[in-house]
Amino acid sequence: MAHADPDALTLLALGEPAPDRSTEDHLRTCAYCRSEVEALREVVSLGREARAELDLPAPPDAVWNRIAAETGQEAIAPVVPLRRPPRRWRAFLAVAAVAAVVGASGAIVVERAMRTAPAVTEQLVAQTDLVRLGTAPDTARGTAQVVRTDGRTVLRVSVDGMPAPEGLYQVWLYDGAAVMIPLGVLTGGQADMPIPAGVDLRTFGVVDVSAQRLGQQEHGVSMLQGNLS
Ligand SMILES: [Zn+2]
Repeated sequence: MAHADPDALTLLALGEPAPDRSTEDHLRTCAYCRSEVEALREVVSLGREARAELDLPAPPDAVWNRIAAETGQEAIAPVVPLRRPPRRWRAFLAVAAVAAVVGASGAIVVERAMRTAPAVTEQLVAQTDLVRLGTAPDTARGTAQVVRTDGRTVLRVSVDGMPAPEGLYQVWLYDGAAVMIPLGVLTGGQADMPIPAGVDLRTFGVVDVSAQRLGQQEHGVSMLQGNLS
């Protein structure tokens, strides 16, 4: 079900009537959109409280002069009899307050939209638990996922409970028999490692994390392993 147009919700929060029947009908059945309107109403009421504070004494000349300079209005020279324009000052603040309200509610809509719609869609292609081998401590474990994201395929490796390596930890794809393809070095608990386009995961279906001496080119000592499926 598509949710109501954020602009329509903003108008409702500002006290305008619903722009059409379908928005009205949708709100009756959708708790999510009703909560959006409620959140926006809170912002609007905050903005209105701020506006209620506008009936303050006129600002000192120095403040007004700064505002005047920034808005291109006529500044007040201190030696000239005061032509302080409280109405213009109030109008300026009122506009600023409305801008703040509109800006804030707009920001909420955008921020919520971003939270509900991930920027990059990911597709899980295969995965495996990584199981400790003899040389790894009892605490060692991990997972590996083949993920299609942003037009490329990566191996997302995540490990936990591993001791600090004497050299480094290297991730490999293995055909289970003779050939191992190095994918990259694990420098933290998790990493995305691009899988070269020519690598067929039906052949290279074993994920291996090995301890390597620095500079060691060949496969070192397996710590974790799993079969992608
Ligand atoms: Zn909805």
